[in-house]
Amino acid sequence: MKHKVTVIGGGVIGLATAYALVREGQSVELIEARDSLASATSFANGGQLSYRYVAPLADAGVPWQALGWLLQGDSPLRLRLRLDPAQWRWLMAFMGACRRSVNRRNGAQLLELALHSQATLAHWRENDGLTDFAWRRNGKLVAFRSERAFARGREHVDTANQQVLDGTDLRALEPTLADVPFIGGVLTPDEEVADCHRFCERLAERLRACGQCRFLLGRPVTRLLAHADQVVALQVGEARVDVQRLVLCAGHRSAGLGLPGMHLPVYPLKGYSLTAPIAPKHRAPEVSITDYERKIVYARLDRQLRVAAMVDIVGFDESVDARRLQSMRRLALETLPNAADYGQAVEWAGMRPATPTGVPIIGATAYRNLWVNLGHGALGFTLACGSAERLARMMG
Ligand SMILES: Cc1cc2nc3c(=O)[nH]c(=O)nc-3n(C[C@H](O)[C@H](O)[C@H](O)COP(=O)(O)OP(=O)(O)OC[C@H]3O[C@@H](n4cnc5c(N)ncnc54)[C@H](O)[C@@H]3O)c2cc1C
Repeated sequence: MKHKVTVIGGGVIGLATAYALVREGQSVELIEARDSLASATSFANGGQLSYRYVAPLADAGVPWQALGWLLQGDSPLRLRLRLDPAQWRWLMAFMGACRRSVNRRNGAQLLELALHSQATLAHWRENDGLTDFAWRRNGKLVAFRSERAFARGREHVDTANQQVLDGTDLRALEPTLADVPFIGGVLTPDEEVADCHRFCERLAERLRACGQCRFLLGRPVTRLLAHADQVVALQVGEARVDVQRLVLCAGHRSAGLGLPGMHLPVYPLKGYSLTAPIAPKHRAPEVSITDYERKIVYARLDRQLRVAAMVDIVGFDESVDARRLQSMRRLALETLPNAADYGQAVEWAGMRPATPTGVPIIGATAYRNLWVNLGHGALGFTLACGSAERLARMMG
């Protein structure tokens, strides 16, 4: 039976959810606060479909490591404590999740979801003909500068799907790294890369064309109106929009729309990217690269190099911090000076919608017509298709 489903949020998660629901025969109305789709965190992320690197950030020893980073100048992590109970609650829950057993359990869940996501995207590409979003299976290379880190990286290698490379093999695989002092790396050949914003545009085109999805843009939802255990309507500015079934996919803003009895521990972790054009004279890497010690990722998206990094726990301030981007640009120039024109790079900041455990919240709620699909943190693009498909099946 066909239902009308309202989806709040037009990022990669909301759009993939709408797409999966329409594929299941539902009709969808998607409400987005901004004037354009995928213009918040899904706009210029790292572009990595990093299916086998999904272990949560929360792990044993991470609080001590984080403390070390906080004392560094060009640290990948920045924390500004605020008078905000949500920030304190999130940090406390994060510390609570920093245990090896919790990390292993959550990592296993995430890996299962990631591999399901990879299969779902493959299905959508091959069966539905979804193309033109700079998708490639180019492999991911996690590269190490120190013996200590390399030894730790080798400990977790899944030999069926990954290869350990010494410095010589690494440079043979990716000659653009000839002058970078990497001593070795771990290659995962099946990892993929794509442009998240272009992917969202392709999903939106399909949704518009199918006649089963309507978009309401520039319409921030201010409140969910519930009666007993059911959401009956949404407050959208002055208007009231009735709902039959509702899915909340509002990224890092989701907690603000929660209802009594719902636990949505999502907090923003700000990050940055540079998108630099690649001209014929440049030598950009083909494989995606994670510079392990510096916590920077590089991905080639057609004729552009996407560089992404940094975790700033600074509240809901979405502004681009010029100093953070300057330090990223300096590190990129030092590592891959001839890969792209950094002088022409487009600067961007985005808010990862993070749960303390790193595990997204997908499924039903205490309200019988309300579902959620949110909290994908640093892995929203990687996990989008699988999360959407899983939720659409639950709702079906
Ligand atoms: C620097 C950086 C690099 C990253 N790199 C990668 C990567 O390489 N691979 C990967 O898998 N992931 C990566 N991520 C994470 C990924 O980008 C996010 O997890 C993902 O974009 C989250 O998608 P979303 O749809 O939940 O949120 P968003 O894209 O933010 O979408 C939420 C939407 O909801 C709308 N909204 C919010 N409140 C309301 C409201 N009240 N009413 C109506 N609409 C509302 C917003 O306007 C927004 O459009 C990265 C993130 C950052 C910041």
